[in-house]
Amino acid sequence: MEYKYDKDNIFAKILRKEIPSEIVYETENSLAFKDINPAAPTHILIIPKGSYINYDHFIKDASEEEIVDFNRVIVEVVRQEKLSPNLGGHGYRLIANTGLNGVQEVPHLHFHVLGGRNMGPMVVR
Ligand code: AMP
Repeated sequence: MEYKYDKDNIFAKILRKEIPSEIVYETENSLAFKDINPAAPTHILIIPKGSYINYDHFIKDASEEEIVDFNRVIVEVVRQEKLSPNLGGHGYRLIANTGLNGVQEVPHLHFHVLGGRNMGPMVVR
């Protein structure tokens, strides 16, 4: 089935600068900004600038350059926020809620980087 991207979703508006965001890192292909409703002391969202709904859409249609950049930006943010365990940080959780059962609210691919406290159990059982 074809992916149908909603160009009026909130992150598309952030990318078009129609609504403000607190940017922490940016490249030609990716943007990292603070979550407006943080679930942890550090809560950053990382999105590709291209119009991709979720990770499987991204991997299907994005260029190698976009994919490499997106993944590198995640790691750069983790380093910048001093979360990397191998750089003395206390670790982090990386989440990509996807679709209905993944309880994805915004239909533009985003990874959450959460840290600054013990994140507890992975999911509610
Ligand atoms: P998800 O449930 O994985 O789709 O997460 C969407 C996330 O986007 C939530 O954590 C929201 O708090 C966050 N969010 C929604 N609107 C904004 C906004 N304008 N700026 C920053 N984060 C936002």
